Amino acid sequence: MEIVPGIHQVDGVNGNCFIIVRDDLTIIDTGMPKNSAKIVTYIQDILKREPSEIKTIVLTHFHIDHVGDAFDLKELSGAKVAIHEADADYVAGKKTQPAPPGGMGIIMKVLMPLFFRSKPVNPDVQLKDGDTVAGLTCIHTPGHTPGSICLFDPASKILFVGDLLRFNGIKIETGPFSLDAGKLQQSINKIAAIDFDIMLSGHGIPLRPDASVKVREFAKSLP
Ligand SMILES: [Zn+2]
Ligand SMILES: [Zn+2]
Repeated sequence: MEIVPGIHQVDGVNGNCFIIVRDDLTIIDTGMPKNSAKIVTYIQDILKREPSEIKTIVLTHFHIDHVGDAFDLKELSGAKVAIHEADADYVAGKKTQPAPPGGMGIIMKVLMPLFFRSKPVNPDVQLKDGDTVAGLTCIHTPGHTPGSICLFDPASKILFVGDLLRFNGIKIETGPFSLDAGKLQQSINKIAAIDFDIMLSGHGIPLRPDASVKVREFAKSLP
């Protein structure tokens, strides 16, 4: 579906996948593995464009529900894959992914290699805070993972937040697990200082209008 003119979301890939449609196509996050055909069908049938027009795939962090189809989409389009430098080795399979603290972390450590595997992908671009990628400003917002990023589109005043925050239709929440709660809080304060109209997150639905006002209120409500 088209969220605002020129920005689409591909449904049903379990982890929101966004496509920015301009002269070329930019994909932000790719959903769980085995959904690349769904994304390609969307590009061809709804957008009437070709996968070869995907020039950049930006990953907000290394989790499988965001990077699952990065390898396949890169293979079939020749797009460049961009991720923050602190998450690059995890998506490339060079480092073992850290599990979140607590019981959930133990469960994930056992289950992840059995059921949740994505093909490693070597990032072409390693982002740093303040870099511009495909017209978007990269804002380093660690906490959920070390290299989690938000992406700000000045043209549309949209902020893509990955799993830093989500809007479930009723309220704003933080992502389900966080590797570093202190950094997460700092990162929320960091984006609360930006002016944006719409927040698009890795899960949940768009938050609009006046998204930054609502995020500021949420940031103030944190302990
Ligand atoms: Zn995540
Ligand atoms: Zn996620």
